[in-house]
Amino acid sequence: MDYDYDVVIVGAGPVGGYASRLLCERGLSVLMIEEHTEIGRPFQCAGLVTPSAMHAVEAYGTVVQDVDGALIHGPSGTLVPVGKDGELRTYVVCRKRFDQEVVQQGLKAGADIVLESQPTDAVIHPDGVLVTIKNQRTKLEREVSCKLFIGCDGAHSWVRRKFKMGHPKEMMVGFQAEVVGYEGKNRWLEMYSGSEIAPGFFAWVIPSGNDTHRIGLWSKADMLDGKTILDCYNDLLTHPLWKERFENIRETARYCGPVPSGMIRRPFKERVMVLGDAAGMAKPTTGGGLGPGFKQISSIVDNLVIAINNDKLTEKDLKSVTKASWPKMKKEQDRARALRDLLVSTRTDEELDKHFANFAKPEVIQLINSVGDIEKPVPLGMALLRKVPAFRKLAFQAGVKLLFT
Ligand SMILES: Cc1cc2nc3c(=O)[nH]c(=O)nc-3n(C[C@H](O)[C@H](O)[C@H](O)COP(=O)(O)OP(=O)(O)OC[C@H]3O[C@@H](n4cnc5c(N)ncnc54)[C@H](O)[C@@H]3O)c2cc1C
Repeated sequence: MDYDYDVVIVGAGPVGGYASRLLCERGLSVLMIEEHTEIGRPFQCAGLVTPSAMHAVEAYGTVVQDVDGALIHGPSGTLVPVGKDGELRTYVVCRKRFDQEVVQQGLKAGADIVLESQPTDAVIHPDGVLVTIKNQRTKLEREVSCKLFIGCDGAHSWVRRKFKMGHPKEMMVGFQAEVVGYEGKNRWLEMYSGSEIAPGFFAWVIPSGNDTHRIGLWSKADMLDGKTILDCYNDLLTHPLWKERFENIRETARYCGPVPSGMIRRPFKERVMVLGDAAGMAKPTTGGGLGPGFKQISSIVDNLVIAINNDKLTEKDLKSVTKASWPKMKKEQDRARALRDLLVSTRTDEELDKHFANFAKPEVIQLINSVGDIEKPVPLGMALLRKVPAFRKLAFQAGVKLLFT
């Protein structure tokens, strides 16, 4: 086959843009296919980017707010502050500018892009992949050949469905409004919990610069008990404990979107691979998908480039390329989910209140602040179970769960 490109990537979101850059910087030719006319729109994101994810793309110019900590509210109002003034925990970005910056880095490294276009077919041949691309405006189709076809096409990935690569373990639903008029603590975000507000999960209020905030929540359809995610949002705004805080807000925008979490069973097949949301990489504890998506490609890129250059891209070859990091990432994700379920998602409000009463003890807050790392929730969960007497009776259940994940 005469290859037009070494790699064709569907989706010019942050993970597609980052993957393009890493592959081009290593001498490969890459084409990105993006269905929208503009990069970064529409977006569904709270815009939290952890320091390590930011370090990968250095998109510091897109930061709208630094965040030092979280004020976490229990269902009955117990407040647990986690973090320390002046010690940055995470960034808040303008997601549109962030995506544009990351995709531009891919273009600067040499990638090509076609906008307003989608793949309509992709056929795997022994020596390459033939991708049919259709421009949605002109309706014109063309065929492009490549060695490797990558899906970075988000939660409802066409590539994942086309090649029957499985489903993310969980598909949460997130809702968010952009508001003015909320008065929060400078450089701190807030989290609210309780079965009325965000069953099994939490709601958030995130400062996003210039006196604006992002108010959102996420949950799972099977936990909503007939309610919509919008009902939960309204319940947060009118909750007896907190309604005064939301009295003066004015919405400027609303978004809703899926959060796929649980790496799919087969993220690769012969000459095909999926990355980021397409592979179900979002964290089960926070819903953050940017960091895991970046890590998924950066952890394999050097071996992947060797495999592409040697045209060793069978399913077995790709398994060998990914084996040092992806199974470990999947296991960490499974363990984090098991601990999240045990400590939060399967608990009643009464049980959660008891947990919050324990979290709020000074020695426990100190432990959370010293071990707590948004990137690594499992060590924190384990430390809580081991060191906080009130949680010890859960330790056995946790041990059993972790043994089988
Ligand atoms: C409400 C909400 C809040 C969130 N908050 C955070 C947060 O604070 N921090 C965080 O890290 N994560 C957050 N996430 C998750 C985060 O948005 C995703 O994990 C992240 O966007 C994944 O990046 P991606 O590049 O894999 O996919 P996407 O960002 O979905 O990009 C996919 C790209 O592919 C394109 N595409 C899709 N299908 C096709 C097709 N057939 N043909 C051509 N192009 C196609 C899309 O247009 C898009 O440009 C949140 C999600 C939601 C819903």
